[in-house]
Amino acid sequence: MEAKKKDIRALTKEQLRDFFVKEGDKAFRGNQVYEWLWQKSAHSFEDMTNISLKTRQMLQDNFVINHIKVDQMQRSSDGTIKNAVRLHDDLIVESVLIPTPTRTTACVSSQVGCSLDCKFCATARLKRMRNLNPDEIYDQVVAIDNESRLYHDRPLSNIVFMGMGEPLMNYNNVLKAIDKITSPEGLGMSPKRIVVSTSGVPKMIKKMADDEVKFKLAVSLHSAIDEVRTSIMPFNATFPLKDLREALEYWYAKTRNRITYEYVVWKGINDKQKDVEALVEFCKFSPSKVNLIEYNPIDDGEFQQANPQALDMYVKTLEKNNITVTVRRSRGKDIDAACGQLANKS
Ligand code: SAH
Repeated sequence: MEAKKKDIRALTKEQLRDFFVKEGDKAFRGNQVYEWLWQKSAHSFEDMTNISLKTRQMLQDNFVINHIKVDQMQRSSDGTIKNAVRLHDDLIVESVLIPTPTRTTACVSSQVGCSLDCKFCATARLKRMRNLNPDEIYDQVVAIDNESRLYHDRPLSNIVFMGMGEPLMNYNNVLKAIDKITSPEGLGMSPKRIVVSTSGVPKMIKKMADDEVKFKLAVSLHSAIDEVRTSIMPFNATFPLKDLREALEYWYAKTRNRITYEYVVWKGINDKQKDVEALVEFCKFSPSKVNLIEYNPIDDGEFQQANPQALDMYVKTLEKNNITVTVRRSRGKDIDAACGQLANKS
């Protein structure tokens, strides 16, 4: 049987250069192929038109390019696009393009399924199958960038790691993908336009701070009271708020970057004055912004969006305490592309 060919994109530029030298070619050939693989996002060796036929054949004999395939693209009435992305092993993840008048944002997945078990999130109901490779994350961004140019006449401007999965439980690959996305040899995007969203893995937040990453951090908090948070996000029992808060203080001390909190207010769960007071207490140690996200129902009504008065109370209390607050409407609901709805339905 033929030995399994290696994915050429698992090689660094150095390794690719070495490979060509070993093959009796010039190291420079490695640069050319690297450019095809990343900057030009080639799907096959045939695409590499400035490489000789013989060399392309040799590459073909040794390697594969495990490019993702956009299996299905759905377009929402509000312009949002959702891609169902097929991976080389036939697993599927989803990514979303969210256009607004001033920006186009890619919302990308970091895992197939999710490691966590948030009660209100559709992705949590899928089994976690595996982590995505750096190139599978990168490819999602390239696909969305192409769609943004095609359907909205402009390149992608922002990226949020708010698709399927918990990025900090696939930290190394997420970091490698962001390196490629921000590198001039990749997409050359500014890290300031990238947000990594986490449910809050304290150890990894500290690691990010130590790694001096330049992208932004968002935390899906939803409650600043342990008992409440554990009831809706059970892993909070393992990573309690005290540890999360300590990690965030560490992050802020090192990066001086504002922290964003994602927060849904639900009826009867976290819609009381004491809930918002706990939130203020939790996040006032650093400059912060609270995004109050609209709840996207995924089930039989166990969770319901709080009434407008409760939302109003949150906004007023946060503002009184000098915490920036925005109330965000969901996009792409008609195609199950909104927060918490990514569940490979089609
Ligand atoms: N695991 C990471 C990345 C996923 S981001 C994280 O938790 O941050 C997805 C965002 O959508 C999170 O803020 C999550 O809390 C939120 N979310 C999940 N289900 C939702 C739902 N049904 N309605 C609205 N927001 C939801």
